[in-house]
Order: sequence, then C-alpha cells, then structure tokens
Amino acid sequence: MSGTAHAELFAPPSESAGLKNLVGLSREALEAEITACGEPAFRARQLWQWIYSKGVTEFGAMTSLSKAFRARLEEHFVVRRPEVVQDLTSSDGTRKWLLRFSDGQEVETVYIPEDDRGTLCVSSQVGCTLTCKFCHTGTQRLVRNLSPAEIISQIMLARDALGEWPSTRLDRKITNVVMMGMGEPLYNYDNVATALKIAMDGEGVAISKRKITLSTSGVVPEMERCGRELGVNLAVSLHAVDDDTRDKIMPINKKYPLKQLLQTCRDYPGTSNARRITFEYVMLKGVNDSPEDARALIKLLKDIPAKVNLIPFNPWPGSFFECSSNNAIHRFAQILNDGQLSAPVRATRGEDILAACGQLKSESERKRKSERT
Ligand code: SAH
Ligand code: SF4
Repeated sequence: MSGTAHAELFAPPSESAGLKNLVGLSREALEAEITACGEPAFRARQLWQWIYSKGVTEFGAMTSLSKAFRARLEEHFVVRRPEVVQDLTSSDGTRKWLLRFSDGQEVETVYIPEDDRGTLCVSSQVGCTLTCKFCHTGTQRLVRNLSPAEIISQIMLARDALGEWPSTRLDRKITNVVMMGMGEPLYNYDNVATALKIAMDGEGVAISKRKITLSTSGVVPEMERCGRELGVNLAVSLHAVDDDTRDKIMPINKKYPLKQLLQTCRDYPGTSNARRITFEYVMLKGVNDSPEDARALIKLLKDIPAKVNLIPFNPWPGSFFECSSNNAIHRFAQILNDGQLSAPVRATRGEDILAACGQLKSESERKRKSERT
C-alpha cells in the first residue's frame, strides 16, 4: 500500500462541528486562520507563544491580546486537551496516562524519570497495523492514525500534569521525547512530522531535535525523509540478526529485509560517531539471545555508527514468548561490549502499572466490556 493510500484509509476523524481546535496546526496554518479572522499575521505568533510556550488553554488568560480579539477567538476556536481516563504512578516514579480522544479511541503516554533525564514516550497511532509477534500493540484490532493535535497534545498534557510550563523553565523534567509508544510513526509520517515540527519550534514547546528519537520497525521508504526533513535521532527495532528469524517475529521484514534496512541506516542523514543510531533488541528466550546471535550482531553493525539497547521482553497476558534469563542477557551484552558496541540493558520500568506498550489500553477495554455484560 502506498503511503498516501495508507494515510487515507487510517485517517483520524475530521473535526466535528463546533469550535475548531487550534492545537496541532502548523505555524503557517495558524497564521492562515488568524488572518482569515481579519487580524494581522503577527497575532498568530503571539497566540502560538501562549499556546505552546506558556501552555495556556483559556483565551481569556492571554492578556497580551486585545479583549476584542480574545472574544473573537472564543467564538470560533478552542485549545483542547485530550480526556485523561487513567493517570497512574508506579513505585519507581514512572507515570502513565491513558488518554481518550473525541471519537472514544484511547492511547497511552508514559513518562520515565531517570537520574540524568526525563523521557516522555509518545504514541503515534491507535493500535498498529504491523503485527510483531512479541508486541501487545500489534494485537489490537482498531487502528487509526493520530492527528498532529493528538500527538502534540500528549506532550502538552504531560507538561500540564508535571507542572512544566512555561517552556523557558530551566528545570524541565521532560528533557527527551521518544516516538516509541503505540503505533508505527513512519506509517503516519505526515502527522508525526507536523507534530514534531511543533515540538521542536524554539518559540513554543522547544524540545531540540537532538532530544527527540523516532523509533521504527524499519519502514525503509520513509526513513531517509525523516532524517532529512526532521533531523531527529533514529532508533530501529532490529530484534533479530538473520532474515529467517526476523521474518517470523516482525512480518515487515518480508517487505524490507535486513540488507535493505541496514543500507538505509548507513545512509541516514546526520549520523556520526557522536550521533549514533540506536538498535533496539528485545531479548527473547531461545529466539535471538545466543552468543552466536551476539557475534552476528557485531558483524551486522560493524560499519554503522550504532549503539544497541537490550530490552528485556515484557510479557503480556497470552504472549507467546519468554524473556531471556538474566545470565543470557548479560552474556549477550558482554559479547557486544567486547566487540566495541555499546549495549546497555534497559531497565524494566513501571511493572506495577502495566508498562508493556499497549497493555493499559487493553486492560481498560476489557474492563469496559465486562462492565457492559
Ligand atoms: N512501532 C515502532 C515504535 C513503537 S514500539 C517500533 O516498532 O519501533 C517501541 C519499542 O518497544 C520497539 O522497539 C518494540 O519492538 C518494543 N516492544 C514492543 N513490545 C515489547 C515487549 N513486549 N517487550 C519489550 N519491548 C517491546
Ligand atoms: Fe507496531 Fe512497533 Fe509493536 Fe511492531 S513493535 S507491532 S511496529 S508498535
């Protein structure tokens, strides 16, 4: 399926009648709305700062705008946040929000505090069309793309909840954003790009492209464009070192096999030893965790500025796989380190709040169903 056909088939619902949401419009689109209201273009810039730098949602509080203009804004527009269905904090400080959009669809956003950073994990789709066998999101039936508003408002909502406005604060907790929540961001490229451009804008949300990482399962045709147009860090879900294994656990490999994927990584714009591509590798017992696999991985990545994130498999109800033993994970990491590949083992976070991607949403749906019966 072409990118355009995919975007049409899985499009978010068009805004329902009523007030138009200003969140998620590009700078140009916001300016067009404002000039259409008969206001000069510079007003759009002021409004942009109120919305994205100060985090204000009420037009009445935008005191640098004339009263007449504020009244006109109130007549036509709104600055909307998604509804928070659940807000859970884990004993380790990980926080997870289950958000519901106007058509009732739900996604998850997760905040992960660490010693030297705070990372917000943002979703790009409701569900995912790619059915990676170890991933819970891939089992969810309903899929649609998130709109730019639904993507950027995940960051804005987390900022509300953590008391992070204005963007100019020096003590911001959310320092990094990763497009690693539900969905495949490169199957929703246009909306993700609009949202990330808003996130990177220095007069708004102001998160530098160096602090944003987009994770893909390997949608080869969109990768180069992502590097060239957005310049964000790239993470690639590799998870296997040979096509046979990868075909089995990640069906997208049949379309874009390893050789093609790794060549696209070699060509990813802006990559250097100081700015490496992250290869994610979920540790699955007896599937991809042998010492031979580790040695093959070193060979595979030898001419790519790379680091490897070893992720302990996070089981979910009904999942077919088991996580590799601690020993196997550490032996694997040691072989990579000896081969000059940096390979931290990612800590499992937020286990007590259903941390595996997509789990909270399924749990919420299950509960709603059982309440109905
Ligand atoms: N679709 C994109 C981004 C979302 S998934 C991608 O696949 O890269 C984010 C990361 O979580 C991916 O590396 C994915 O493979 C990993 N992941 C999915 N399910 C997991 C599980 N049950 N345990 C551990 N990691 C998982
Ligand atoms: Fe989709 Fe990523 Fe999960 Fe694969 S791992 S099913 S691409 S969300």
